[in-house]
Amino acid sequence: MSKDLVSFIQDLYGTNGRIPLHEPFFDDRDKELLIETVDSTFVSSAGPLISDFEKKIAEYTGSKYSIAVVNGTAALQISLELSGVNSGDDVITQSLTFVASVNAILQCRASPIFIDVDKETLGMSPESLKNFLEEHCEIREKGCWNKKSRNYIKACLPMHTFGFPCEVEKLKTLCRKYKIKLIEDAAESIGSFVKKKHTGLFGDFGILSFNGNKIITTGAGGMLLTNNKKNAQLAKHITTTAKLPHKWNFDHDIPAYNYRMPNLNASLGITQFEKLPFLLKEKRRIANHYKDWGNHNGYYVKDESRNTTSNFWLNTLIAENKKQRDEILEDTNKALIMTRPSWTPMHKLPFNKKFQKGSLKNTNWLADRIVNLPSSARNVKN
Ligand SMILES: *Cc1c(COP(=O)(O)O)cnc(C)c1O
Repeated sequence: MSKDLVSFIQDLYGTNGRIPLHEPFFDDRDKELLIETVDSTFVSSAGPLISDFEKKIAEYTGSKYSIAVVNGTAALQISLELSGVNSGDDVITQSLTFVASVNAILQCRASPIFIDVDKETLGMSPESLKNFLEEHCEIREKGCWNKKSRNYIKACLPMHTFGFPCEVEKLKTLCRKYKIKLIEDAAESIGSFVKKKHTGLFGDFGILSFNGNKIITTGAGGMLLTNNKKNAQLAKHITTTAKLPHKWNFDHDIPAYNYRMPNLNASLGITQFEKLPFLLKEKRRIANHYKDWGNHNGYYVKDESRNTTSNFWLNTLIAENKKQRDEILEDTNKALIMTRPSWTPMHKLPFNKKFQKGSLKNTNWLADRIVNLPSSARNVKN
């Protein structure tokens, strides 16, 4: 059966050779501005292109403020820190995510709590979150008290999986009620919206990633989004060594990070951003091809959920069972087509086994069935 999928993908990308999962898309504009940037000598964390890129992202997403940093994980860590997450606190996240979400929590010396995802959105399930909070938590003066761990739950970190938005409005209502800060891991979802609002703008912070495998890339890079002026100023301050502005003096008021995105990377950000509308159109076209193929061949290929716009970053087939999933992975990879299963769920990683979790029924079900399909915008037929 999955032989059909092999020839379909080979036809889509016009080759019997290697087909990567997700290649970056570069053109002469990227190279030209990179050379100009090198010639300008401003290659590190000072330079005009960094704030230019920040402005473009703020304007596109509708975020009041945006702070460019070295990668998405750093953006997550800073968002958590500025949300008051400290050693001995709890942070709720989903188990079906890339390890960066959890690493950022652990970098703050906090404990993750793993909540189930929704089968339809692939993102954090509002119902599972509600069940967990009702069973284990008490709303106190100081915040959300976890009766089991005897810690405060300071933040909730849902993720928009593969670019498909989760039900973030419902999550927000729950977080408000329980006095929990909401941080959206929108690393995979630039160009994805809930109704007309860009992902990453629903909570206290949102973060984007510009890693080489995302829709647009700065090589490595990330962006913090927030509508709160004070948080934006603090984020800029602690990601730029907390240097106090002065013409020549080097004064710093707190220990801080060197997390500013370099100008060289921001150069790519500027020229990649110009291509975003084109890339989003291409992604939607590829997704439509996959969905048509799925409809004709009896496979479920993930589509947009109600009231959402997806960027279709990584197309996702949900196999009927683990056996079919494994067959698809075998057949496609043997034909040099790079398909991938979901990440190992976070609660199954050895260093995460000790942490609290809700029922993870959907997470385990999906982890046995997800197949990510090649989704590069390059060399794809019409
Ligand atoms: C890519 C990604 C990140 C951030 O990754 P960086 O490589 O640090 O930019 C975070 N979370 C998720 C879900 C991701 O896919």
